[in-house]
Amino acid sequence: MTANEFLGQGAYYIYLISAVLFIFGLKQLSRVRTARRGNNLAAFAMLLAVIGTLLELKFAKGLDIDFRWILAGAIVGGVIGIVAALRVAMTSMPEMVALFNGSGGLASALVAAAVVWDQLILKDGLAPASAASNLGDGGITEAVSIVLSVLIGAVTLTGSVVAFLKLQGRLKKGAPIILPGRHVISLLLIVGAAASGIYFGFVGETADAYATGTIVLALVASILGVLLVIPIGGADMPVVVSLLNSYSGLAACAAGFVINNPLLIIAGSMVGAAGLILTNIMCVAMNRSLLNVLVGGFGVAEGASADHGEYEGVTSCDAEEAAMVLESARSVIVVPGYGLAVAQAQHVVRELADLLEARGTKVQYAIHPVAGRMPGHMNVLLAEANVPYDQLVEMDAINPEFRDTDVAIVLGANDVVNPAANNDPKSPIAGMPILDVEHARTVFVIKRSLSPGYAGIKNELFERDNTMMIFGDAKKVLNGLVNEFKELS
Ligand code: NDP
Repeated sequence: MTANEFLGQGAYYIYLISAVLFIFGLKQLSRVRTARRGNNLAAFAMLLAVIGTLLELKFAKGLDIDFRWILAGAIVGGVIGIVAALRVAMTSMPEMVALFNGSGGLASALVAAAVVWDQLILKDGLAPASAASNLGDGGITEAVSIVLSVLIGAVTLTGSVVAFLKLQGRLKKGAPIILPGRHVISLLLIVGAAASGIYFGFVGETADAYATGTIVLALVASILGVLLVIPIGGADMPVVVSLLNSYSGLAACAAGFVINNPLLIIAGSMVGAAGLILTNIMCVAMNRSLLNVLVGGFGVAEGASADHGEYEGVTSCDAEEAAMVLESARSVIVVPGYGLAVAQAQHVVRELADLLEARGTKVQYAIHPVAGRMPGHMNVLLAEANVPYDQLVEMDAINPEFRDTDVAIVLGANDVVNPAANNDPKSPIAGMPILDVEHARTVFVIKRSLSPGYAGIKNELFERDNTMMIFGDAKKVLNGLVNEFKELS
C-alpha cells in the first residue's frame, strides 16, 4: 500500500471514529451534568470529519484540491464563530441559534448549487438530456438530493432569518403576521417548488434549463420559509426554532447524498432526528399538534385575540414585607423565567435559597419547558449557580405541589404562569400547560412592571388576591431580600 492509499483509506476510519463520537456527544448533550463534555466531544468529532473529508478528496478520490482556499474559509468562518460566541449575551443565544440554523441551511443549498454549477453547467460535452441522466450513475438519487438540499436549505435559511428578527422583536415585535389566504399561497408554493424541482432534474435538457430550475426552486423555497414562520407568534416560537434546527440537519443530510459523503449523511440525519424529537417535546409542552407545526401557521387559533386590558386591584409590596412572609414559610417554590436571565440573578437566587434552607424551609425550582428563550434555558442558568439538580423539578411533577406550598416566587416569568392558558380559549396561549402557581398560599411576582411577556398578553395572575407584585429588577429585589434575611439571622 502506498502512502497515498494509506491516507485515503485512513479517511474512512476517521469517518467511523467521528460518527461514533457524534453519537456519544449527542447522548451526553441530553443531560445537564454531561452537556459541556458532550459539546466538546462533538466539536472534536467535527474537526476529525473535516480532516477525514480532506484526506478522502485528496488521496482516495485523487482530486486536485487547493488547500489555501479551504484554510482561508476555515480561518474566516472560525474567527466569525469565535467572536460571535464570545460576544453573545446569554439572553441572545436563541437568536444566535436561529442564525446558525439558517447558516446550515444556506451551506447545504450552496453545496448542491455548486454541484449543479460544476457537474452540469460548466461541464463540456454533455448530451442534451435531463440532469438525472447527465449526472451519471446514481443520477436520479443525486438529482433528487440536489432538489431536497436546495428546497430544505432555502426554507431553513429564510425561516431562520424571520425567526431571528422575531426573537429580536424587530418584526412586528414578534407578533404573528397573518396573510389572507396563507394556506392557499403555501399550497401553490409547494406545487411550484415540486414543479421546478422536477423541471430541473427530469425535464430540462440544457445548462440554461438546469440553472433556471435551480434558481426558481431556491426562490420559491425562500418565500415558503418566510411564510412558514411569519404567522407564528404568541408563545409558539420555541417550536418553530427547534423545527428549523431539524430542517438544517435534513438539508445537510441531503447535501451528504449530493456529494456522496457518508459522514455528512450521518451527522445531518442525527441533527434532523434530534431536532424533530425536540420539536415533538416542545409540541407536547405547548399542547400543539406536530402536524400543524409541520404545515405551518399552527397555534394561531382563528379569531384568537390578545387581551391587552388594564389591570385592576393589583397589590404590591417591598422586600421587607416579603421577607417577613418568607421568614415563616415552610415550603417555597421558585419559578424562574426569562427575566431571571435578563437580570442575571441566578447566583443571588441561590444565595436566598441557601438562607431559606438554613432556616429549615424546603426550596424547589419549578422548570417550565419553554421558560426563557431557548430549550433548557433555566436549567443552564441555574446550573451556572450550582443549584443542586435534585431541586429542579419539571412542570408535571411540581404542579400538584403548589397547593401545599406556602410561597411561590415568580422570578421574571410571565407567560409560563399565565392562567389565561387554561381559562381563555381565545388567548394566543390557550391550551399551553402552565405552572399552577396561583394555588400556592402566597405568590410573589418579581418583575419591573406590569409589562407583558413574550406572548404580549395580560396576565390575570397579577390581579389575584393571593398575589403580591414586587416591582424591580430581579437581581436588585433578590439582593434586598437576601439583606433582609441576613439582618434577621
Ligand atoms: P416571558 O417572556 O413571558 O416574561 C418575561 C418577563 O420577565 C417579562 O414580563 C418582563 O417583565 C420580566 N423581566 C424582564 N427583565 C427583567 C428583569 N431584569 N428583572 C425582572 N423581570 C424582568 O418569560 P417566560 O419565561 O415566562 O416565558 C417564555 C416565553 O418565551 C414563552 O412565551 C415562550 O413560548 C417564549 N419563547 C421561549 C423559547 C424557548 O425555547 N424557551 C424560545 C422563544 C420564545 P418586565 O418588563 O415588567 O420586567
